[in-house]
Amino acid sequence: MTPVAADTIVAIATAPGRGGIGIVRVSGPAVPAITRALTGDLPAPRYAHFTRFLDASGAPLDEGIALYFAAPQSYTGEHVLELQAHGSPIVLELLVARVVELGARRALPGEFTQRAYLNDRMDLAQAEAVADLIDAGSEAAARAALRSLEGEFSHRVQVLDASLAALRVHVEAAIDFPAEEIEFLADTTLTERLAQVQALCAALQAEARRGRVLIEGITVVIAGAPNAGKSTLLNRLAGHEAAITSAVPGTTRDVLRERVLVEGVPVTLLDTAGLRAAGDAIEAEGVRRARAALARADHVLFVVDAEADPQAKSLEAERATLPVGVPLTVVYNKSDRLAGPAGRIGSSVAEGAVRISALTGAGVDALCKRLLVSAGYESSESGTLSARGRHLDALARTAAFIAAAAGALRDARAGELMAEELKAAQAALGEITGQRSADDVLGEIFAGFCIGK
Ligand code: GDP
Repeated sequence: MTPVAADTIVAIATAPGRGGIGIVRVSGPAVPAITRALTGDLPAPRYAHFTRFLDASGAPLDEGIALYFAAPQSYTGEHVLELQAHGSPIVLELLVARVVELGARRALPGEFTQRAYLNDRMDLAQAEAVADLIDAGSEAAARAALRSLEGEFSHRVQVLDASLAALRVHVEAAIDFPAEEIEFLADTTLTERLAQVQALCAALQAEARRGRVLIEGITVVIAGAPNAGKSTLLNRLAGHEAAITSAVPGTTRDVLRERVLVEGVPVTLLDTAGLRAAGDAIEAEGVRRARAALARADHVLFVVDAEADPQAKSLEAERATLPVGVPLTVVYNKSDRLAGPAGRIGSSVAEGAVRISALTGAGVDALCKRLLVSAGYESSESGTLSARGRHLDALARTAAFIAAAAGALRDARAGELMAEELKAAQAALGEITGQRSADDVLGEIFAGFCIGK
């Protein structure tokens, strides 16, 4: 296939700063000419060639390895040159400037990977996995990103797409023979096949949900009355003194952010200002921020002082101010102060609640587990794929169209309507791998990359 881009791009591919080796990457049609001008030769493709890198007057800028990849067998699918030079920011910048002088332009963030996508070297889900691998915050996230990069997620999407296509062909064939259509649509195997496609989609959604949790992490708000132990819990989870704890109500005046890893999942913890009527302007601002954070969270931990408030009256008092639809766990804190194992916790609110001592750490592990499970992440399952909110959104729309197709069959035996819904399901699904992606989605995805990738 013919490479898409007409211009040639260049960037430093290694991390900023000094290093043993620094890599400058060039991609595009002018690469052979640039290589000749820079090194005096065009090395055989895929062979490491030790050479001098020359300036316009023929004087050496540095010496190192030149690696030439001929199109289409390269990362971008275009002619690519990789210069392994000494890892000096000055030398690398001189090399980039020289390549620009020879006709290339500086690459935008993610532009190499964007070209790889445009030249069919990878699909969109794989391209996103490249960024997720680079940004991975834990070993589990890196492994998941690699699985997606190697095409596992895309493969699962293709399997679902093929099932949708097969079903659509079946239905469309029925429409073409009106005399038999009614009978055809009444066939129970059609309902069964539709159910199978629904199950396939649901399984992929569950998988993607776990993948998103692993890559994007979750946000947890720690809410509750002043002095319940919110800051102490945050510190316990973060493992150090992030918030100032104090026995005087209302010390926590801001939204504190801590990012911790729980079984490889990045968890952003927000400790909010005490959720109560504010005494002064600064506190009022704290309360306003706390409310905004609450609304966007994946989970709310409502901390209750089990000793002072065994009936969780503070929860009832705050109920109206808590966000609707965000899962909430009541956390009975200060369990170390309670006498018996059951303590005096009110039975009406104790169901589903967790008992901990933020001070001693008792029960905190179980609380973390619950957070992950509630977000859709079961660590016992192996082989997680990396996924993003965008993928989940596309899968949710796919599922909705499949459900509509099932409805059309069940309620109206409407073949044409069903075929339309299946087609829409395929279109929504196709957005994941980029078969039918809109340009603005592309721009957004690749803008999130680093330069040189
Ligand atoms: P916040 O206002 O909700 O952030 O509460 P803090 O975290 O500042 O805690 C208020 C007081 O309760 C402090 O004196 C803490 O040391 C104490 N505290 C917090 N958690 C526990 C706990 O699990 N057990 C005991 N005994 N005291 C706790």
